[in-house]
Amino acid sequence: MKTVRLPSGETLSALGIGTWRMGEHSPERSEEIATLRLAIDLGVTVIDTAEMYGAGATEALVGEAIADRRERVFLVSKFYPQHASRRELARACEGSLRRLKTDRIDLYLLHWRGHTPLAETLEACLQLHQQGKIRHFGVSNFDIEDLHELSATPSACMVATNQVLYNLMRRGAEWELLGWLAARRIPLMAYSPLEQGRLLRHRPLTEFARRRGLTAAQVALAWVLAQDGVLAIPKSAHRARLKENWAALEHPLTPGDQAELDRLFPPPQGPSPLAML
Ligand code: NDP
Repeated sequence: MKTVRLPSGETLSALGIGTWRMGEHSPERSEEIATLRLAIDLGVTVIDTAEMYGAGATEALVGEAIADRRERVFLVSKFYPQHASRRELARACEGSLRRLKTDRIDLYLLHWRGHTPLAETLEACLQLHQQGKIRHFGVSNFDIEDLHELSATPSACMVATNQVLYNLMRRGAEWELLGWLAARRIPLMAYSPLEQGRLLRHRPLTEFARRRGLTAAQVALAWVLAQDGVLAIPKSAHRARLKENWAALEHPLTPGDQAELDRLFPPPQGPSPLAML
């Protein structure tokens, strides 16, 4: 199984699972929980969530799903920028811990940049880390200028990831962001690797996949996972799809496949602002 290494040296499976929109509709709850539990049993250790999702309902669902498997999970949650101050962050973290029914979050991310100075947010994260409430911290939706600013901040060396939009249709991070992170051994966590399902309706991609006996989802994930230092967190709330996505790990793309995908989804030709969903 492909793994990525955090700056601390800890290794993670490169394929995780996202949870946005889980826990919002009660008829789907039992399948969502069953999917998360199956994911852990298959070896998916990284589960990504956020205090924003379902206004806390998603964290509560994740907490229920992992209750008897906490030790096997690398739990990622994200806090709102309006909670990024010293005072608010402690309270936000307590709320997430309570909903997740755990005593620690493995990786705690600033969801996107707000108005709190980065130095204050990182200091607050460091304090939570020292208290054992979070094991690692990082950022999300940070463009290259944000990262330059971040790197001038005390404790920046502890930033463990930047979670950004990255998939075949959104390759802007390849221009500078990926290289910047790689040079500092910080993995990129690719969110919406299936472009929220839109990639799966992309005719040339479905045709490309069909010719190889794969599905468009498997090709899209195999492509993201082929990039060095990148982990992906596709969301599915269905066990059959989870298994389909997991099987992408068994189908690495050949150099010929990569070249054809470059023709279908050209890499960036210049800088562009980081896209965000
Ligand atoms: P994804 O690209 O992961 O796509 C999810 C969609 O694809 C869902 O509708 C899912 O449906 C569907 N799907 C998944 N697998 C298959 C399959 N094999 N066949 C057909 N359909 C499939 O989008 P997300 O936006 O959910 O991104 C993943 C995760 O990244 C989020 O859940 C969240 O945790 C994180 N995220 C973080 C953001 C940030 O700002 N930091 C922003 C956006 C996402 P179904 O569930 O019904 O199977």
